[in-house]
Amino acid sequence: MPSMRDVVVVGAGPNGLTAAVELARRGMSVELFEAKETVGGGARTEELTLPGFLHDPCAAAHPMGVGSPAFRAMPLERYGLEWLHPELPLAHPFDDGSAAVLARSVGETAAYLGPRDAATYRRLMAPFAGTWDTLSADFLKVPWDGLPRDPVTLARLGLTGARPVSWVTRRFEDDKARALFAGLAAHVVAPGSTPMTGAIALVFALAAHEVGWPLARGGSQAISDALAAYLRDLGGVVHTGVEVKRLDELPPARAYVFNTSPTALARIAGLGGRAYEGFRYGAAAFKIDYALDGPVPWTSATARRAGSVHIGPSSREIGAALHAAAVDGRAPDVPFLVTTQPTLVDPGRAPEGKHVFWAYGHVPNGWDGDLTEAIERQLERFAPGFRDLVLARAVAGPAELARRNANYVGGDFSCGAFSGLQTVFRPRPAFNPYGTAHPAVFLCSSAAWPGPGVHGMSGHNAAKAVWRRLRAAAR
Ligand SMILES: Cc1cc2nc3c(=O)[nH]c(=O)nc-3n(C[C@H](O)[C@H](O)[C@H](O)COP(=O)(O)OP(=O)(O)OC[C@H]3O[C@@H](n4cnc5c(N)ncnc54)[C@H](O)[C@@H]3O)c2cc1C
Repeated sequence: MPSMRDVVVVGAGPNGLTAAVELARRGMSVELFEAKETVGGGARTEELTLPGFLHDPCAAAHPMGVGSPAFRAMPLERYGLEWLHPELPLAHPFDDGSAAVLARSVGETAAYLGPRDAATYRRLMAPFAGTWDTLSADFLKVPWDGLPRDPVTLARLGLTGARPVSWVTRRFEDDKARALFAGLAAHVVAPGSTPMTGAIALVFALAAHEVGWPLARGGSQAISDALAAYLRDLGGVVHTGVEVKRLDELPPARAYVFNTSPTALARIAGLGGRAYEGFRYGAAAFKIDYALDGPVPWTSATARRAGSVHIGPSSREIGAALHAAAVDGRAPDVPFLVTTQPTLVDPGRAPEGKHVFWAYGHVPNGWDGDLTEAIERQLERFAPGFRDLVLARAVAGPAELARRNANYVGGDFSCGAFSGLQTVFRPRPAFNPYGTAHPAVFLCSSAAWPGPGVHGMSGHNAAKAVWRRLRAAAR
C-alpha cells in the first residue's frame, strides 16, 4: 500500500508552486506533478530563437509578482530571485513622437500627461498612495472571505474602479491619458466598456508607483526556480514531464490541488461535463519573440528607457482592437500591442550588443490566422527600421500557445474570460471558489479569483481553503 501524502498538486505554474509551498510550510507532505520538462507554466525562460537568447515565452514584467503578498512572505531572494527595475516601468508612445509613461513617481507620471491632466492624475492616485501592502492583500483575497484590513481604501478602489475604464478616464482632457489607462486595462483582454476594467488600470498604475514593474534577472524562470527550490527545501517532491490524465494515476493523498484549466480539472477528476458549464474562455494572444541585432529603435526617446511599451495610438484604436478580438470574433486590423524589452535591464540575456524583445496583440479564441504582418507594421510605425534588426522570430498564435501550456485554452492566457459575472466570480459563483464537488479536489489556477498574472494568489487562497478543509476533517 503506497503511503498517503497530505497533498498532491498538478501543475507547476506560479499558482501551483505557491499552493505547494504554502502547504509544505504548514508541515504537510506535498508532491507536485508538472506536464512539461521544466517548472514554471507562464513564468518560464527558454532559448526560443537562437542560442544565447533567453526569451520569456509568456510573462516578463512583474508588477504583480514583486507586489504579491504571497511572494513577499517567502525568502525567494535566498533562492536566486533578483528583481531588476527598468528606469521607467512603462512607456506609451504616440504618433507625434511624445509618450505617456508610468514612472516610479506619481509626480513624473503626471508631468508627462501635460498641464491639462497632471492634477487630475495626482488627484486620482492620491487616496491610494502608500497603501499597497494592505490594498493588495485586500483585493487579491476572496472579497467575502473575512474583513478587509483597510476597508476605506478598498471601498475607494471599488467605487472608482468598478466602472469601465472608459468611464473612469472621462475626467481626463487629453486622449493621451485615456490611451494610457485603456492600455493598462487591456491586460485583462476585455474592451474598455467592461465593468471593473477601471480597477485593473488603477492597480497597474498604482503598482508602478508603489512596487515597480520589474523583470526577474535571467528571466521569469528565476521566479519559478526559486519557488521550486524553496518547495524542495521544505520537503516537497517535484516531478516534471508527467502529464496527469486521471485522478487515479496519482498517489493517494488527502487533497488534490489542480493548477489546470477548469475543463481539464473536470475531465481528470471525473467531475462531469456540467461542473463548470457556465465557464467561458476569452480572447487569445498572438505573440512574437524576437532576437534582435540591437535595441528597438523607438522614435520616442522615452520608450527606449522603459521595460514595457504599449502600442496603441489612441483610446479609440485600443478599444476597437480589443472589441474586435473579444466581442466581434475577428482579428483587429490595427492590433493593440503589449511589448517588453528585457535586455535593457538584463543584457546577459542575449549575446553582447544583441537583444531579446517580445510583442503580442489580441485575436479571437482559437483564431488560426497570422498576425505577424499587422504586428510588425505597428512596430515599424513607432520604431522605423525595426524589421532590419530582426535576427530570428518565434511566432506563437493561439494553437501554439495552447500547445506550450494546456491552461491556455484556445490561446486564452488568462484561463478564463474577463466578462460578465466571471470578472468577480471566478471560476463560478461560490463561497469557496477553489473547492469542487469532490471534497478532496481543489482548483488553484488563474481560472480562479483573483485571476491572471504571476502573483501566486490563486494558489495562496486555494492553499488556505485546502488547509481549512483538512483541519476540519482531522477534527
Ligand atoms: C504571452 C503572455 C504574456 C504574459 N505576460 C505577463 C506578464 O508580463 N506579467 C504577468 O504577471 N503575467 C503575464 N502573463 C500571464 C501569466 O503568465 C499567467 O497568468 C500565469 O502564468 C498563470 O499562472 P498559473 O499558475 O495559474 O498557470 P500557468 O502558469 O499556466 O501554469 C500551469 C501549469 O500547469 C501545467 N499543467 C496543466 N495541465 C497539466 C496536467 N494535466 N498535468 C500536469 N501539468 C499540467 C502546465 O504545463 C503549466 O506548467 C502572460 C501570459 C502570456 C501567455
